[in-house]
Amino acid sequence: MTGSRLKLVTGGRVLDLGGDLDHPEIADVLIEGDRIVAVGAAATARAGALEGVETIHAEGHLLIPGLVNSHYHSHDVLLRGSYEQMPLDIWGLYTHPANYRRISTQDIGLRTLLGAADALCNGITTMQDMVTIADPERGHVDAIMGAYEASGARAAIGLQIADAAGVDAVPFWRDLPDDVTQLLPGAADTSALQRLIETLVMEGGRDKIDWVLAPSAPQRCSDGLLRWVAELSAIYGLQVFTHLYEARSQVVLARQAYEGGSLLAHLEKFGLVGPRLTIAHGIWIDEEEIRRFGAAGANLAFNPMSNMKLRNGFAPIVAYDEAGAGLALGCDNCSCNDTQNLFLSMKMFALFWGFQTQAGESGAARRAFAAATLGGAKALGRAGDLGAIRPGYLADMVMIDLSGANYRPLNSAIRQLVYGESGQNIRAVMVGGEIVVRDGELLAYSNDELKQAAEDARSRMREEVEQVEARNAGMLKSLLEAYEKAEAVELPFDRFSIRR
Ligand SMILES: [Zn+2]
Repeated sequence: MTGSRLKLVTGGRVLDLGGDLDHPEIADVLIEGDRIVAVGAAATARAGALEGVETIHAEGHLLIPGLVNSHYHSHDVLLRGSYEQMPLDIWGLYTHPANYRRISTQDIGLRTLLGAADALCNGITTMQDMVTIADPERGHVDAIMGAYEASGARAAIGLQIADAAGVDAVPFWRDLPDDVTQLLPGAADTSALQRLIETLVMEGGRDKIDWVLAPSAPQRCSDGLLRWVAELSAIYGLQVFTHLYEARSQVVLARQAYEGGSLLAHLEKFGLVGPRLTIAHGIWIDEEEIRRFGAAGANLAFNPMSNMKLRNGFAPIVAYDEAGAGLALGCDNCSCNDTQNLFLSMKMFALFWGFQTQAGESGAARRAFAAATLGGAKALGRAGDLGAIRPGYLADMVMIDLSGANYRPLNSAIRQLVYGESGQNIRAVMVGGEIVVRDGELLAYSNDELKQAAEDARSRMREEVEQVEARNAGMLKSLLEAYEKAEAVELPFDRFSIRR
């Protein structure tokens, strides 16, 4: 697979946030090893003076940086398409690995590979995978890393960790009948998982794999666990990804059970709110909290698709931006989106942005594209390294065919990309200077073999999925009552309204 160390990508229109976004300049891109070393006339001239340069033709194509998915979980890839809309806390009982028997190492590798293939074919070259492994086994982590390496994708992996009982993390679950509460996830001893995470971060990342920390959510973690996360992050300089204020019920819980009624204040107590922190969702946050969050230089990973599928509402992205927070974009789980496609998230971002600003304000598409590229790089602590086609950046690029129907005629590359592209015109995807996808197919695995492996895995898990669904059916009435109780608690702000 490895071609020449020197490559010249010729004749593409390079979309750069600092350049012409409507009719991007046609520019050659010179790559040495895994990095871009020159763009434009300098690239053409330098390549002309070098020997052994491989040419990759991009005439008639738009070149965009590989997209960065800042919020994703690979653990439920095999459940994609299984569910319609339902509330977050109920959905979790259908999809979270804690509700299933242990899964084989082979299937952990397979689900990771299937998720990575979905992402890569849609132009996502880097993903933050907040993955739950039911057993803290090294072999399971090796399967995940091996699958990413085999796919060719970059991953910032965080092993999701939580130790609180379900009844302490969701309002009114304590009041549920005993026959229901005994089926809900209990408190967990995370000491073995913590030792495993410590070992992994001490070993450090690999070529395309980084480690981040992933406490599931403040209300799902004990004080001791959050303190451990903060210490580990400080010692190793690790980014921290968590869920904050995803559902309305979570601000109800915060007001009921947390000092000052704030889950953000709870994270602040451990020194976790700063540029290394990225929160997923951040919907049910109040204006004062947004100001503090933005002033601290923390990042929001906005997940518009799953936020609607799980009936959570609309994050106030413009307010976050005005407060100084970083904005990134995610696709979230395959069981609540149901594909890893940042084009869909970008389109939603732009539409939400337009609702939250003055009518006709320009820049929504540009802001969406920034969130999916440079914003994601910043959230991952990789600013200056990922998210742009510029000298010094990693050579992660997506080649999009501008002869596609939605680019005829080309009025504005950025708008036609954000509002009109869904990945259908992707011709090639490059990660670290190597082409890993051509015409909708990984080079490492054929679509036929991935399809067969996925269907086989579905057969293996079907019986257990049906058992989980039958178990949940018996609890559904009580769970929905608890949900309605939380919905009925009045709050001084509303995030079911798309407008500010
Ligand atoms: Zn999530």
